[in-house]
Amino acid sequence: PRGRTPLMAGNWKMNLNHLEAIAHVQKLAFALTEKDYAAVEVAVLPPYTDLRSVQTLIDGDKLKIKYGAQDVSAHDSGAYTGEISAPMLAKLSCTYVTIGHSERRQYHGEDEPLVNAKVKAAFKHGLTPILCVGEELEVREAGNHVGHTLAQLDGALKDVKADSAAELVVAYEPVWAIGTGKVCGEEDAQEVCGAIRGRLAELYDEETAQQVRIQYGGSVKAGNVAKIMAQPDIDGALVGGASLDAEEFVKIVRFRD
Ligand code: PEP
Repeated sequence: PRGRTPLMAGNWKMNLNHLEAIAHVQKLAFALTEKDYAAVEVAVLPPYTDLRSVQTLIDGDKLKIKYGAQDVSAHDSGAYTGEISAPMLAKLSCTYVTIGHSERRQYHGEDEPLVNAKVKAAFKHGLTPILCVGEELEVREAGNHVGHTLAQLDGALKDVKADSAAELVVAYEPVWAIGTGKVCGEEDAQEVCGAIRGRLAELYDEETAQQVRIQYGGSVKAGNVAKIMAQPDIDGALVGGASLDAEEFVKIVRFRD
């Protein structure tokens, strides 16, 4: 099986207009070197309104930064006012799309069947889903964090075939660690990420499970990323707040230094 190149992805959430997006990607491009790109895959996940500008910059300058969207419709086209489809994102050469982010689940009522439909829509159009899973604080306190997260994984991957699943990225994001400054301990993060890989082996097979990249997300910063990345089943980070600071994000990309 191919190796799991670490994936550092910046989820900008609802921040940076298209002009700010250009300036931000330029800062990243100026700082990142061939050595960085050889060791780590770097991706940005801007708001939809920034994607065309980011694409033009990245394509025009042949930058090795990947990009994608923060959500996608489950439908290909039609009367779905306000939605953006997977074919539209594919046409903009997006590589990734986050699906099932906890903020979508919490504020937009996204449930497992919808997340599953979005995962399938992404695969159908050649986008790589970054499937976000993870428990709320009360679930962890009750000791059900592994079961809860694996149930989300099962639901999201219903009827997804092994050849698609091998391309998947899963982001384990304990909800209580997102944007709170409370990072999950690296051993606690590994416990769940290891369990996710174990479940993928059950749902598919060991080879498929070994190919899937599993990210940790939740208050990742330059100062805590190395310990997290040292865990055997953690292959990258989904970075929110800290990805808006170009210098900090570059330090996260250089977690080995
Ligand atoms: C996220 O939005 O996916 C995230 C992990 O946010 P933060 O890094 O700000 O906790």
